[in-house]
Amino acid sequence: MSTQDNTLTNEPVFERIALIGGGLIGSSLAWASRKKGLARHVAVTSRSEATRQRIAELGFADSLHEDIKGAVTGAELVIVCTPVGACGAAAEAMAPYLKPGAIVTDVGSVKQAVVRDMGPHIPEGVHFIPGHPIAGTEHSGPDAGFAELFEGRWCILTPLPGGDPAATAKLRRFWEGAGSMIEEMDAEHHDKVLAITSHLPHLIAYTIVGTAVGLEESTKNEVIKFSASGFRDFTRIAASDPVMWRDIFLNNREAVLEMLQRFSEDITHLQRAIRWGEADTLEQMFTRTRAIRRGIIEAKQA
Ligand code: NAP
Repeated sequence: MSTQDNTLTNEPVFERIALIGGGLIGSSLAWASRKKGLARHVAVTSRSEATRQRIAELGFADSLHEDIKGAVTGAELVIVCTPVGACGAAAEAMAPYLKPGAIVTDVGSVKQAVVRDMGPHIPEGVHFIPGHPIAGTEHSGPDAGFAELFEGRWCILTPLPGGDPAATAKLRRFWEGAGSMIEEMDAEHHDKVLAITSHLPHLIAYTIVGTAVGLEESTKNEVIKFSASGFRDFTRIAASDPVMWRDIFLNNREAVLEMLQRFSEDITHLQRAIRWGEADTLEQMFTRTRAIRRGIIEAKQA
């Protein structure tokens, strides 16, 4: 364990926080906490020796731990920043060492599965408040993080029925301190909304890039060489971390399949319009979607 002084100018929201995982989101949270004085001490653990080594070099942890026990002991806030599929095991490993009254949260892109997998391990007297920052990039690992990642971005919290409002208010203050706007909703609603706004677009990007690569291999087409902006945008999305996205699709299966079904119906409708030369149908559709883009820009989420 290594310790550095982290002198703060503002009163921190928490004395000690623990980050389980120091990849893109974990390292960004550590940088944001330090820059904005959200915690007096940021303890970090990561599964692999290689990542821990890199975290030590980058210097965003006040203390770096080989195991979850070392990181969570004495922490007032624990944030699980691993792929969704690893959240349950993390909760199980930390349970005996959690401080009474501590808050446990996560950043996973799926919420019902996290509630299902982590919930049963959280001891009585510890507040479990799942969360999801709608902020990210296609990069991963400890080098990818930066303090400003959450600024002007939404963070969704999905407090459980009967949870302590004071604990939720404290967690809100932490995320607001990192620059986020907060929305609360239930986990099921979260998973439906994210299935269409994030999960389906990634599925489409992975598919279209895969199709183009397959085409290039089979026909020696110069798809990559002459890739136009539309395709390039898809390749950026399809460069996202494979393990993280594997876990998202496996853990939000129902909502993703429902959105995929609707999408298939809509694309069949467009296919038909193209086949029968229905110009009005195409133009109306594209006009409607253009307005959505304007709305996103106006909401400063572009
Ligand atoms: P990342 O950069 O790949 O970092 C993942 C971290 O989790 C690393 O510290 C890694 O440890 C650890 N980890 C990976 N597999 C593990 C396992 N099986 N058991 C224990 N630890 C494991 O990922 P990220 O982008 O920060 O994503 C983390 C979480 O944030 C995911 O749940 C994701 O859904 C969510 N999220 C991501 C984004 C985004 O745009 N990337 C946005 C919002 C939310 P080692 O490196 O030591 O193996």
